[in-house]
Amino acid sequence: MIKAFFFDMDGVLFDSMPGHAVAWVKAVRRYGLDMTAEEVYESEGRTGAGTINALARRIWGRDASEQEIKDIYAAKSEVFNEYFRERGEAPVIPGVADVLDAVRTHGLMRVIVTGSGQLSLLDNLNKHFPGHFSRELMVTAFDVTRGKPDPEPYLIALQKAGIAADEAIVVENAPLGVQAAHAAGIFTVAVNTGPLPDQKLWDAGADRVYPNMAALVADLHSLETK
Ligand code: MG
Repeated sequence: MIKAFFFDMDGVLFDSMPGHAVAWVKAVRRYGLDMTAEEVYESEGRTGAGTINALARRIWGRDASEQEIKDIYAAKSEVFNEYFRERGEAPVIPGVADVLDAVRTHGLMRVIVTGSGQLSLLDNLNKHFPGHFSRELMVTAFDVTRGKPDPEPYLIALQKAGIAADEAIVVENAPLGVQAAHAAGIFTVAVNTGPLPDQKLWDAGADRVYPNMAALVADLHSLETK
């Protein structure tokens, strides 16, 4: 029996990925690293430290130092916040409020599981989705050591919710997030809100792939009784 839905944040609740793409590409360049927008989407779900270390290993042949991680992530956050200051806040993904309301109506818990440490978004959760999320039922970059694609964040979420893997459903949008949830043994729904092909989500282990949130809401009953 399903007791909870676990929601990723970027690309699931907020249409924030375009800002992340611009921010990573610009910020890492200042430090002599190089990343394309496509690579940002491919590595979505990792923590900031995970993304920076993957780049450092590829380009410098070593892990980044603590200080480098701090500096580069600060630069990235600055560009990210600037991006949305200029355009208004990161928009909410169309239809996701209906998903949350339907999940609440069915009496199920709502848990956030994100690799993000982006305080500007985390602080905005209550404003945009009032009454849906509580700090106790949230796993963020501050809770994990490995992060997605490792199953760790989803295993911590199961612990926090006090439920077993077969009592949860994950909603993800990115291949590495799907991989993490699948590795934690949880039924994983992918909503493809970005530019990558659906096949990447299937390959990562998605149990269902939907084109948008409306398709997910329409299928909610079948998910609960899967
Ligand atoms: Mg995401």
